[in-house]
Order: sequence, then structure tokens, then C-alpha cells
Amino acid sequence: MFPFKKKELQPFCFEHLSEMMPYGDSAKAETAVAYACSQLDCLINYNTSCGYFIATKEGDRVEQRTMPGIHCPNDGTPMYLAEINPEHKSYRLWKCPQCRKSVTNLESMQARGQSA
Ligand SMILES: [Zn+2]
Ligand SMILES: [Zn+2]
Repeated sequence: MFPFKKKELQPFCFEHLSEMMPYGDSAKAETAVAYACSQLDCLINYNTSCGYFIATKEGDRVEQRTMPGIHCPNDGTPMYLAEINPEHKSYRLWKCPQCRKSVTNLESMQARGQSA
């Protein structure tokens, strides 16, 4: 169990930068098993255990492909895109659903620059 209320989670689709909607048995955030992009033709989904994944439906078979994502430096949990900035198109803030650590892509870019 995660030590926070699930409804506080508001992941964005990293492709469309649009809010993702929780879905599940009752379509309430509290019981959501995963989040789906609000763009109808978008196949990107997110859940807290495997991070972003693509769900494609071919006939009766639903295929799930895990996306390469950002992982929490503390516990390795797949992080979700929690914040975007319309004025800075390259800005991304990723959050860990487990320990709530957040990183921005600017920080990780700087970190890479320092180590190189
Ligand atoms: Zn999308
Ligand atoms: Zn974490």
C-alpha cells in the first residue's frame, strides 16, 4: 500500500501532455487500477506498479508494452509525469508515487552534464 491518497495522483501523458483519467471498477480515483490518456486514440496508460505502458488491442488479445521511463533514484519505482510548464516546453517534473520524490528533467540534464 502507498502512504498517500490515490486521488492525489495526477499523471500526465508524456506524449500529449494531457491529464490522464483514472479508470477501474467504479472509475473513481480511489479505486483506479490505472490511468489512461484523455486523447481517444492514445494507447498510453499508467499505473503505479509498472509505470507507463502501451495497451494495444489486437482482436481479443490485449498486448502491454512497458515504456522506458524515469525511475526513482531512491526505490526504483517508475515515476509519473506530474507537472508540465506551457511556457517551458521542455520542462518535465516527474514524481515517485512511493516516496513522493520529484525530479525535473532539467536536474537530470545538469547531473549528466556534471558527470561527463
Ligand atoms: Zn496520450
Ligand atoms: Zn521513490
